[in-house]
Amino acid sequence: MVLRVHRFLPSTAVEGPGIRACLQVQGCPIHCPGCAVPFTWPEDGGITMEVEQLAAHILNGPEVEGITFLGGEPFEQAGELARLARNLRASGLSVMTFTGYLVENLRSAGRADWMELLAVTDLLIDGPFERERLDTSRPWVGSANQRYHFLTDRYIDLKEKLTDIPNRLEVRITPDGRVMINGLAELKDLRALLDL
Ligand code: SF4
Repeated sequence: MVLRVHRFLPSTAVEGPGIRACLQVQGCPIHCPGCAVPFTWPEDGGITMEVEQLAAHILNGPEVEGITFLGGEPFEQAGELARLARNLRASGLSVMTFTGYLVENLRSAGRADWMELLAVTDLLIDGPFERERLDTSRPWVGSANQRYHFLTDRYIDLKEKLTDIPNRLEVRITPDGRVMINGLAELKDLRALLDL
């Protein structure tokens, strides 16, 4: 089984609870106006990674408490991600999944692969990005319509504390001088970073 991936981070502190691996998949048919990552839309972009090899790579890599799937649209590769998630959960890792679809639509679609990915997700964030409802006051989400669904008890203690969790950015400088940013920040902080 092969995944099409835009970016893989073996360890990040800004893409969900705790220190996590983060898999940004390639391909999204939703095309929200104002999407910050339109380069993840084409299905034929990115690179391919074999699911079992990626699982072994994560389990043998830096210590993490879980993995975050974001996009692109993770549910476009739901079967592959569900398999990866099952593999990682067997070693105690948690799974957080973002989707531009609504969970009600995922559940009612009659898609076995979508149900499989929901079944192995601890924390789901759903809904398309709506640029006119930009919201950086809550962690990890981009707009006010997006919702947190605690599908297991793994992170249920965060439910009443979400607004205490700040959004944060990570900035990486690669050996060849490229600057890579992930995470979320208040607009004023993003502007200050761009000014720098
Ligand atoms: S679902 Fe996510 S990746 Fe897809 S267009 Fe919307 S914001 Fe962009």
